[in-house]
Amino acid sequence: MSFNALMVEKDDEGKTHAAVTQIELDQLPDGNVTVAVEYSTVNYKDGLCIGPGGGLVRNYPHIPGIDMAGVVESSDDPRYAKGDKVLLTGWRYGEVHWGGYAQKTRVNADWLVALPDGLSTRQAMAVGTAGFTAMQSVMALEAHGLKPANGPVLVTGAAGGVGSVATAILANLGYEVAGVTGRPETADYLKSLGASQIVAREEINETVKRPLESEMWAGCIDAVGGAMLARVLGQMKYGASVASVGLAGGAGLPATVIPFLLRGVNLLGIDSVMHPYENRVAVWKRVATDLPMDKLEDMVVPATLSDLPKLGADILKGQVKGRVVVDVN
Ligand code: NDP
Repeated sequence: MSFNALMVEKDDEGKTHAAVTQIELDQLPDGNVTVAVEYSTVNYKDGLCIGPGGGLVRNYPHIPGIDMAGVVESSDDPRYAKGDKVLLTGWRYGEVHWGGYAQKTRVNADWLVALPDGLSTRQAMAVGTAGFTAMQSVMALEAHGLKPANGPVLVTGAAGGVGSVATAILANLGYEVAGVTGRPETADYLKSLGASQIVAREEINETVKRPLESEMWAGCIDAVGGAMLARVLGQMKYGASVASVGLAGGAGLPATVIPFLLRGVNLLGIDSVMHPYENRVAVWKRVATDLPMDKLEDMVVPATLSDLPKLGADILKGQVKGRVVVDVN
């Protein structure tokens, strides 16, 4: 029985090519659970894995897709049985291992999470790694003392995947949210998700001139990194924390240590890939309770496997708004 998959091949000149193709079940890698995939999504990393690889993909041909949700078809693991609804994010699935851009996938049971109550497989993929990481970031900020009364929370890369979900969760929890975007045309969208203030990217993207500016933000979820993160550190309120999630604007950090030393600012590292299982379950539970599903639906851009080569290129250029949901069937 053959099925559809987005396969990336590398030619003799080292160039990658992605196309939908038919493959057989016995071509799938080893694993103890086989899942009929229903939905996947497109994260920034997927853009790299559909395209040039970004050092993430080790072997070709490769099936990308770092997230998937579907129904267990067969399982040699006692934790999962045929018919169970499951999701998978992280563990280098779709990078080192063949991923979710296929109608079937074979995986290690340790990587799976049972679909949380209250979420459909489609909603779980509207959340995906980007939304999971946004929730993880909110929880990290809360664990470091963030409360709505502390003041406004800044979200950078706000119209992207991480930023959109972070904005909707924070607003729903009663926070005042300021969204940084380089796309002014997304202002109404960000306001509909709950942002009360829109900050233009240019306003905050300059190199640090003064290590400390006025205290503005009670917290920050940063998907951008680089000069923007450096600048934001100097704008944090006393004792506030920044969750460092992404590098859409660069991996460098041209900052000084002054905000740490004089304002007790905390820089919290957020990794969704190797996040331990128990915490994953806790994060997904919070997603199901704290992310308003109508707002999630407003972020969704529907897609199919054949749309992926274009969407992969678009997300690398920062041109995808919200969350793509890929119906692989
Ligand atoms: P998206 O492309 O959906 O969002 C990124 C957003 O960043 C863009 O939409 C854009 O927002 C902004 N942006 C893009 N380029 C620049 C630039 N040059 N300067 C400033 N802002 C820019 O990606 P995701 O939301 O999926 O991922 C965001 C980042 O988080 C990525 O770097 C990704 O690798 C990382 N990530 C990390 C995870 C972890 O475990 N730590 C998990 C998931 C993602 P706007 O148009 O509003 O300005």
